[in-house]
Amino acid sequence: MIKVEQLVKKFGENTVLKQISTTIKQGEVVAIIGPSGSGKSTFLRCLNLLEQPTSGDIWLKGKKITDPKTNKLAMREHIGMVFQHFNLFPHMTVLDNVTYAPQKVKNISKADAEETAYKLLDKVGLTDKANTYPNKLSGGQKQRVAIARALAMNPEVMLFDEPTSALDPEMVKEVLDVMKDLADSGMTMVVVTHEMNFAKEVADQILFLDDGKLIEKGDPETFFTNPQTDRAKDFLDKVL
Ligand code: ADP
Ligand code: MG
Repeated sequence: MIKVEQLVKKFGENTVLKQISTTIKQGEVVAIIGPSGSGKSTFLRCLNLLEQPTSGDIWLKGKKITDPKTNKLAMREHIGMVFQHFNLFPHMTVLDNVTYAPQKVKNISKADAEETAYKLLDKVGLTDKANTYPNKLSGGQKQRVAIARALAMNPEVMLFDEPTSALDPEMVKEVLDVMKDLADSGMTMVVVTHEMNFAKEVADQILFLDDGKLIEKGDPETFFTNPQTDRAKDFLDKVL
């Protein structure tokens, strides 16, 4: 589904991603973990070209998206993204948040977009909030709307950047449960997270970043019980 080769990202003199190579298969759930500032968000943002890689290549379903001719907007239709801070449209109801892009970008009729939206709101447990505005929702509800909104574009890959980090503790589970369901449904997911239990239970593959380098990658069992590097051991000692 995704192949990354020798990805480098610099901000000025600061090299924040250093020669990252990896592949992500269809249906795979990949958890990206690592200390703050290690480049996790930048890596995720490179995958949908919200950040332009400095060098290296990324393929999405066999198509080299780092090719300068890539139509970024068209490419992003296939990749849903969920952010730490929800980024809902504050002046739109929940239903309008979820139906806006499919109508605007994909020319789907209002009736069809709403039919899909209600199915997705049902999936995330929020049908009763369809006509509510975001400021009347809890953080967990907002994040579930954000997930429904991303899914409304029928993406092939979902990217999550610390989707539960801004939530009060009691709301973390409702969001992780939605993400687990999505993983079970076969969605390809790349998730930056500090939720080690989620990474352990749901991820097929762990990528551990430190100082812009991909220093460990493998299955969760091995990573959590037998990390190969001192950096990963240190990190796990601190967070577990
Ligand atoms: P993480 O998500 O792991 O905390 P980030 O990818 O956000 O890390 O950041 C990695 C490094 O890149 C940090 O040193 C950060 O300051 C820097 N960085 C991120 N975005 C920008 C930007 N737009 N401009 C300049 N530096 C940035
Ligand atoms: Mg980040």
